[in-house]
Amino acid sequence: QSKNIEDPDIQLIKDNLSNIKNKVLVLSGKGGVGKSTFSTLLSFLLSSDPDMNIGLLDLDITGPSIPKMIGTMNDNNNAQLHSSNNGLIPHYIQDNFASISIQYLLPSVDQPIIWKSSKKEQIIKKFLKDTQWSDLDFLIIDTPPGTSDEHIFINKLLNKTKSITGAIIITTPQEVALNDVRKEINFCQKVNINILGLVENMSGFVCNNCNKSTDIFKPTTGGGKALCEEFNIPYWGKLPIDPRLGICCDQGESFIDTFPDSDATKSLIKMGDLL
Ligand code: ADP
Repeated sequence: QSKNIEDPDIQLIKDNLSNIKNKVLVLSGKGGVGKSTFSTLLSFLLSSDPDMNIGLLDLDITGPSIPKMIGTMNDNNNAQLHSSNNGLIPHYIQDNFASISIQYLLPSVDQPIIWKSSKKEQIIKKFLKDTQWSDLDFLIIDTPPGTSDEHIFINKLLNKTKSITGAIIITTPQEVALNDVRKEINFCQKVNINILGLVENMSGFVCNNCNKSTDIFKPTTGGGKALCEEFNIPYWGKLPIDPRLGICCDQGESFIDTFPDSDATKSLIKMGDLL
């Protein structure tokens, strides 16, 4: 049997994503570095322009936290997933900002995902080929951390459908995170995924009382920039640790709308301009 027989789902995914101008993967070397936070912040930022249509697709099967961060999971109750004859219907947070998450498939928020790999792959494909997005300017895709099987599956699948615009890589300044991010960069370069930029998150803490800045992860603050120089990829800048940011995400509120003058919002706006 020829190995070149194309998976029919590839064409269906291509067709389903054909009305989306830019598809941006958000990647990280490990969990807990702020990948879902960044995906959410970027989506809120882009959707602050009423002329832009934004989609946020949560494929982080290991820890789908987007519904909480965008406020579609009130009082820890799972939002329902709706479908029509044409496919899955995303939740609208604003007229121009819709999102869908693997979390909506779980019976409760405390339920662990214990599906076999084949079932996970089936679900990932379903989300990519069946979600009914309107014409989007940007689809931000939050993926599982690291280079797990599902992660590789998503990236290879999207790469095969030739539908990725590029990837943004999130890291924290600690040596362990930076080491894992090297694997992620190597992976992208190996499968030809265009790296749009790297963001160093949780880089320094500015005290809200005295305004003094502390490099909590000294001496590796700035490690993200050094990594970009080493691998010749664009450096997008830093996001500071801001406790208000964590609170907004926990409450499903837009941080950039609530704290428009914060350093984190100013950095994010600069990053948005690079897209
Ligand atoms: P990941 O998606 O990489 O696993 P998350 O986005 O879920 O990580 O972030 C992990 C935790 O860190 C969350 O509770 C989030 O609110 C918090 N967090 C992320 N970035 C920041 C930041 N810059 N300042 C404060 N808290 C942050």
